[in-house]
Amino acid sequence: MNDNKKKESGVRLRFAPSPTGFLHIGNLRSALFGYFIAKSLGGKFILRLEDTDQKREVAGALEKLLAIFSWLDIDFAEGPHKGGDYGPYIQTERLEIYHKYAKELVVNGGAYRCFCTSKRLEEMRAEQQAKKLPPRYDRCCRDLSTAEIEKKIKNGEEFVIRQKMPLSGEVIVSDELRGEIKFSAKDLDDHVLIKSNGVPTYQFASVIDDHLMAITHVTRGDEWLPSFPKNILLYQAFGWQAPKFVHLPLILNKTGGKLSKRQGDVYVEDYKQKGYLSEAIINFCILLGWHPKNDQEILSRQEIIANFKLEEIGVSPAIFDEEKLDYLNGYYIRKKTKTELMDLLRPYFIAEKIKIDDKQLEKITVLAQERIKKLADIIDFSAFIFKLPDYDGELLAWKKLSKEEAQTNLQLLLKLIEKIPDKQWEIKELETLIFAFITENNGKNGDFLWPLRVALSGLKNSPGPFEIAWALGKEETINRIKSALNK
Ligand code: GLU
Repeated sequence: MNDNKKKESGVRLRFAPSPTGFLHIGNLRSALFGYFIAKSLGGKFILRLEDTDQKREVAGALEKLLAIFSWLDIDFAEGPHKGGDYGPYIQTERLEIYHKYAKELVVNGGAYRCFCTSKRLEEMRAEQQAKKLPPRYDRCCRDLSTAEIEKKIKNGEEFVIRQKMPLSGEVIVSDELRGEIKFSAKDLDDHVLIKSNGVPTYQFASVIDDHLMAITHVTRGDEWLPSFPKNILLYQAFGWQAPKFVHLPLILNKTGGKLSKRQGDVYVEDYKQKGYLSEAIINFCILLGWHPKNDQEILSRQEIIANFKLEEIGVSPAIFDEEKLDYLNGYYIRKKTKTELMDLLRPYFIAEKIKIDDKQLEKITVLAQERIKKLADIIDFSAFIFKLPDYDGELLAWKKLSKEEAQTNLQLLLKLIEKIPDKQWEIKELETLIFAFITENNGKNGDFLWPLRVALSGLKNSPGPFEIAWALGKEETINRIKSALNK
């Protein structure tokens, strides 16, 4: 174990998730801010697993976490998967370290053993509740004499270790975004640092680890603000310099409520599954709190690194606007090359057991690239290509053009289309030939193109008729026109 490591001068940030099996979008946001602060300051970004709450632990969680970060193309300079100079990086492998520091704190008077039984604590809480008092430990064991403590230990009484909070005055802490924040000592609880089973709480383990791992900046959600004075008092009790704390603003949904599973997806894995691209998710999450001076909304990873400034992080709640995420995702989908997009779309067909060859996939990709918002949309989007939907013949009618007149126009188009040679079966050529034909017949574009589009797609809304005809191929195009003539 390496708990005497000297602090390096370099900037070091960490992502410290609990192994719950899924990556919450809010946690990813904290991680990304850490990553980009580290990158923009030429520092290191490391991974630490906070697994002291074993109730929440899920098997294979580390692997899943690493897989999602690898998909995001974010890597860690150190961590449980690759080691490093400040390991171990899993908290349950660091228990001896926490015990050593807890003991030190008890000796120097910053903490004390509490032997209160859970029964006593429950009764105390019930009484506080009845009196409408905030739940606080009544400090019954704070001033036990050495003799009393020794006797209890000898008797095998279980104990926890609690932090000694100041009894009066104020605790002043400083957040990088909010400046000084004052907490009144009377609101601070002598909270538990080490539980009776020897496992540390988050409040204790994270401070010890952040110090020993030479962390220079902590990025975490502002739900941790109430813990902030406890953390700072611990640093002070050890005589350590605290890292800089950056409490990121709350993330709210569009209606102003908390992000919750009931209103939509909260896990990055869900977004990946639906076909959001990692570029879009990163771009979206970094704007949950950061407002670049020039109001730029679309930022590549390099642009984020080059422009990111801690001072530009806001404190008012960030709004999780899925429409904005869709917009960004659409943008990044359009930026893909055809081959890249084909490779991204193929798995969705495989998952649905839809047989598709590369030629067909290529055509669908061309049709979809400008139109889908997320990759999973491809299945619904392309369904009409595989099978003509059963539509009502009245859909062929267009403005003043009746269904019958539409069918007459389709009959004329059919004759033209049947004569188009295979080698001219390209979007542009079809467009030129059909427009020329309409002009020759003194027709209105809509009177021909609407019925043709409906005949080919069976849908009220779809891509244009030339693209669909190209994607369907000549034979199927003819079949679908004939079927419209029978409606
Ligand atoms: N383990 C904590 C969590 O998962 C980390 C909070 C922090 O970054 O300090 O919420």
